[in-house]
Amino acid sequence: MTTSTPLVRRCPICGKPRVEQHAPFCSSRCRDRDLMRWLDEGYAIPGPSTLGGEDDDREN
Ligand SMILES: [Zn+2]
Repeated sequence: MTTSTPLVRRCPICGKPRVEQHAPFCSSRCRDRDLMRWLDEGYAIPGPSTLGGEDDDREN
């Protein structure tokens, strides 16, 4: 395990190396998760919201 890689930015959600396509996250999944977190802070959603499912590589 090499920890001397300052150039590698990590996804703030899961900690994996980020992908430029989804920067600063590693995938659209984490990007959506971060977005949901912001929305959840701004708007109190009553009841369980729709779960995203298990699509990893889903484009917008
Ligand atoms: Zn991630």
